[in-house]
Amino acid sequence: MSDVFDADKVIENLRRFGATNYACPICGGHKFSVQGEIATINTTNKIRVLSLGTYVPCAMMICSTCGNIQFFALPIINGEASDGVEK
Ligand SMILES: [Zn+2]
Repeated sequence: MSDVFDADKVIENLRRFGATNYACPICGGHKFSVQGEIATINTTNKIRVLSLGTYVPCAMMICSTCGNIQFFALPIINGEASDGVEK
């Protein structure tokens, strides 16, 4: 497994999951981009403490019309095991 994010693999998997005629839930647009970098969503069970210890690595799909961003957990969308995220 490479440490470099592969946006093309995410796009391929989104299509395989049936996201071929997907409409943005905000504006109804049909044009999206998958960014070449990932985002991380930090996770914790503490309400008032910022923890940088655990996170979910996510691909971002951005609506080209309104900017709505949807996140996809990489261990799941790419079928790769990772700590803290169950497949
Ligand atoms: Zn949109």
